Amino acid sequence: MVKRFDGREYNQLRKINIKLNVVDNAKGSAIFSFGDTVALAAVYGPKPSKMSLDYEKAFLRIRYNMLTFSTPERKKPTPGRREIELSEVIKRALEPALLLEEIPGSIIDIYIEILNADAGTRTASINAASLALSLAGIPMKDLVVALAVGKVGEKIVVDLNKEEEDYNSEKLKKDPEKLKYIEYYGEGGATDIPVAIIPSEKKFTLIQLDGEISNKELNDALNLALEKSLEIKNLMRSNILKHLSSSSNFIY
Ligand code: ADP
Repeated sequence: MVKRFDGREYNQLRKINIKLNVVDNAKGSAIFSFGDTVALAAVYGPKPSKMSLDYEKAFLRIRYNMLTFSTPERKKPTPGRREIELSEVIKRALEPALLLEEIPGSIIDIYIEILNADAGTRTASINAASLALSLAGIPMKDLVVALAVGKVGEKIVVDLNKEEEDYNSEKLKKDPEKLKYIEYYGEGGATDIPVAIIPSEKKFTLIQLDGEISNKELNDALNLALEKSLEIKNLMRSNILKHLSSSSNFIY
């Protein structure tokens, strides 16, 4: 039976890999991967900031960066418009879960590096940052969990890889070996919908949509995202608990 390009079922996430506190100098850090998409997040602070003394809550500063060797085509080392925009998107996805008013007059820096990219870097980044914030002891209501859902051809799927994001049935028709995938996905292009969720509140803190989709399909996709966010959250949570119980500085 034909399945997705990489052999997954429609509702199957790529393999998730989590590594915690990988950066010695950071207050909290984490690597989160969805298959070949690997994001590293490191949190510094909170530290007092003259800049934020006027604010009643901590100021969150985020820098998302894709390393030049993270993609098959070498990307420019200087931060581009996409990186500046994604830094803001990630900040807005995380902020609603953080209790920044509990640490007024301070600044929290989060540095995100994409070590390898195969689509879904913003969602992997949000998960890595969420883990790193929790390890840094930043007060938060819940972990923020992010993933992409979408429509490839006519099929609703979860966690699109780059080959799926680039899906175009007309182009595939030129390659006889790929015809079987048109039977699976159907005709058309791809619509990618990265989302971030606060699972305990079933609240979406990010929904972006690149492409076309009907209301009914969007509803199905978002329900699939909610369902899969719990799977990711459980994995993130169990990794944190395992890490804390095995680390020597854990205070009971
Ligand atoms: P996301 O990574 O969150 O899905 P995009 O939709 O902007 O964000 O990018 C999709 C994928 O396209 C990336 O994960 C990466 O694999 C590839 N990509 C994005 N920007 C570049 C770039 N400047 N150079 C090479 N590949 C890129």
